[in-house]
Amino acid sequence: MPVLRPVINKRRCSAMPDICLAMPACPVGAIGYVEDQEEPLGGRIVIDYACCDGCGACVTACCGEAIELRELPAAESTPI
Ligand code: SF4
Ligand code: SF4
Repeated sequence: MPVLRPVINKRRCSAMPDICLAMPACPVGAIGYVEDQEEPLGGRIVIDYACCDGCGACVTACCGEAIELRELPAAESTPI
């Protein structure tokens, strides 16, 4: 059965944890940041689908309209 989960469009995301509005908006703390020098911006915002319940608060809060809810197969809604 498909579930709604937020997906980040990295081309729109500034990947700046200090100013990210989506991270503090998540009621379950599912949004984090990982440094990764392979990324053009030096890191990326990540969402832990094991904690996420698909409430959509991050979509509303994101300052860059970089997050959208998508229907994913349940098998894909695992930690990333
Ligand atoms: S608010 Fe949105 S665009 Fe800004 S860093 Fe967070 S997820 Fe990326
Ligand atoms: S959909 Fe809700 S629970 Fe999931 S990451 Fe966004 S704010 Fe957090």
